[in-house]
Amino acid sequence: MRDDQPAHVVIAGGGFAGVACARRLAGQPGVRVTLIERNGYHQFQPLLYQVATAELTPDDVRFDLAAMFAKHDNVEVRTAEVVAADPAGPAMTLAGGEVVDGDVLVLAAGSQPNFFHTPGADRHAFPLYSLEDAERVRSRVLQLFEDASAKPELVDEGALAFVVVGGGATGVETAGALAELVHDVMPHVHPRLAVAGARVILVDLGHAVLGPFSDDAHGYAARQLQRRGVQLRLGTSAKEIGPGHVGLSDGATIRTHLTVWGGGLMAAPLAAASGVSQGRGGRIDARPDLTVEGFPAVYALGDVANIPAADDQALPQLGSVAQQSGDWAGRNILADRKGEGRQPFQYHDKGIMAMIGRKAAVAEIGEHRHELRGRLAFAAWLGVHAQLLANAGAELNAFLAWADEFYLRSHHRSAALLDPATINTPRIHWQDG
Ligand SMILES: Cc1cc2nc3c(=O)[nH]c(=O)nc-3n(C[C@H](O)[C@H](O)[C@H](O)COP(=O)(O)OP(=O)(O)OC[C@H]3O[C@@H](n4cnc5c(N)ncnc54)[C@H](O)[C@@H]3O)c2cc1C
Repeated sequence: MRDDQPAHVVIAGGGFAGVACARRLAGQPGVRVTLIERNGYHQFQPLLYQVATAELTPDDVRFDLAAMFAKHDNVEVRTAEVVAADPAGPAMTLAGGEVVDGDVLVLAAGSQPNFFHTPGADRHAFPLYSLEDAERVRSRVLQLFEDASAKPELVDEGALAFVVVGGGATGVETAGALAELVHDVMPHVHPRLAVAGARVILVDLGHAVLGPFSDDAHGYAARQLQRRGVQLRLGTSAKEIGPGHVGLSDGATIRTHLTVWGGGLMAAPLAAASGVSQGRGGRIDARPDLTVEGFPAVYALGDVANIPAADDQALPQLGSVAQQSGDWAGRNILADRKGEGRQPFQYHDKGIMAMIGRKAAVAEIGEHRHELRGRLAFAAWLGVHAQLLANAGAELNAFLAWADEFYLRSHHRSAALLDPATINTPRIHWQDG
């Protein structure tokens, strides 16, 4: 890199980490940024299950990246898939073969679902990791209610049995939101259907939901889910998934046409295609300053990285970790450019939280994990997520309107979101078993 030329920073991934890094570098002298995102938009994953359960529209959680950086001449947004990264180049290769040379590479490609080789899961389970996934889940729920309404005997074939695999935050939030949709909203949409036959079943190999939380929180979350009609099948795992059933490790078979996969994550494929060594979960092991061992001009951030924590473990895959690591990498890139040293990443822990349903949330805040429940936890959840949205440069209007609606008015849903015309999953062939 010549010192009189701006350093070219090439970022793969426009999620929390990539956007935070680009925002830190936007408008700064001495750097120019190419932000490459296959979708062309930033998707706000913490609100995906609200899209899946018809509480929010896809547009509420999708933010156009070109518009976000329109005011910054030194940031170019490209809609493209990065298929490989060459850390020695350093360069990235796009689908189609174009090579984008850079002075600094930022790998921020996030995660992908990990099906743990469960037979049939990749074909028949519905993951919840992208906006497309969330729209598929919503479509399938609407379709199943439509079909069961037209032919009530399909309930016996599992038309109204909804299975969620995974008792972590994603699984718990999805099961809670699905139960509220199924039991509180859909009876108004299909008043003649016997919705009492509908079931939401949460399956997890562990003996408690929300594993990383305290024992008290496990009990609270389980009670809140059960109060909403969620059946817990703990201590058992999904062994095999078909188009019309899930086979469990305890020998049981559940007839179902919607199995939502919240069972685990691994690094996005770009980790393997970047020629650097991968650690746990296929993630790239980052050094404390967020660069990759042996490549001081290559950064690995957010979900695609194992970022070292003080206790020798890796930080969890969370929006705040991704966002803060993106911002920190931006600072280190600028420090490097000025000849100042790169600093080890310091994570400001916001705690962990999960929204189980309306007026039921749990949060463990700060280093000492002070526990909150109910409306205080909901307030903490709102605060953290509003800040994540604002830091990502996104509009807060839809989020605040949703929070108000969700907390105060409960079961309202926009008719457009419940319109069967929006169904975008293939129709079910009911002879499949
Ligand atoms: C359903 C769900 C709920 C969640 N809820 C919460 C929550 O409440 N609170 C919280 O803190 N965290 C939550 N998380 C976790 C949080 O969303 C992630 O930790 C965070 O999104 C990671 O940010 P990231 O930038 O590393 O990756 P991502 O946000 O996944 O962004 C990666 C981006 O890279 C793009 N990309 C990937 N590969 C390529 C490629 N080859 N070429 C071009 N572009 C590519 C993707 O399209 C994506 O836009 C949730 C996650 C999910 C799935």
